[in-house]
Amino acid sequence: GINIMKFTIITLFPSVINEYISTSIISKAQDKNLVEIEVVDLRQFGKGSRRNVDDTVYGGGDGMVIKAPVLDEALASIQGIDEAHIIYLSPKGKVLNQKVASDLLEHNHIVFIAGHYEGIDERIFSLYNIHELSIGDYVLTGGELPSLVVLDSITRLIPGVIKEGSRQNESFEGLLLEEPQYTKPEEYKGLKVPEVLLSGNHGKVDEYRYEEKLYQTLKKRPDLFKRYINENKLDINKINEIITKKEGN
Ligand code: SAM
Repeated sequence: GINIMKFTIITLFPSVINEYISTSIISKAQDKNLVEIEVVDLRQFGKGSRRNVDDTVYGGGDGMVIKAPVLDEALASIQGIDEAHIIYLSPKGKVLNQKVASDLLEHNHIVFIAGHYEGIDERIFSLYNIHELSIGDYVLTGGELPSLVVLDSITRLIPGVIKEGSRQNESFEGLLLEEPQYTKPEEYKGLKVPEVLLSGNHGKVDEYRYEEKLYQTLKKRPDLFKRYINENKLDINKINEIITKKEGN
């Protein structure tokens, strides 16, 4: 049978998560029974009449930390948690990229922990096997946006979620960036769509797109371009030819 990929998000702001998933491709994926999403409200596991989830840092210093028992109880409440792949969104984690997203597809159930304040009590890492994942070298206020970023990047890789062909040419599917895209009208404020794209000659279109991918990558991501050249043993004369063609006209 078809495997539905399940995601659980533990958050203090369920509405942020629900709002986004209700408007995007993720909701379509849910409708098609390709993904199942569960949002767990961390506040529900808070302590006392005010449902406190955080407290001050031992040893002194600014900020608050999410309490271990609160997060522990939230995790323990999740059905199938023992088999799930648990991710804590954290600036200290391995950094997300297309390969990392695609490797995560192998899991049937991923649980995201969205942190807040200064983070979470370190002891939670001794209670569960938790993988830290970052969306980049900068610090955000909470793990909600990062969870959604990771969720989105994985979801669109699930077969059937978006049209098969539309993914293959995208940036980062190989090392090359996507070529520029155009749609109607054919001419706007004197700016014309490249002639070759209107030619109907598939061979020529493919060649143009490949050269554009190379050129875009060279200009925008020289680091990726270098890797591409090395891995594909590209002829430097051919590259120079393309550059001259692009910049010469
Ligand atoms: N004190 C933490 C540190 O220095 O590593 C930063 C905590 S941050 C203010 C609050 C929460 O936002 C974190 O617990 C994490 O869940 C999330 N977060 C912030 N930046 C992130 C990033 N680059 N990637 C993933 N999650 C991030």
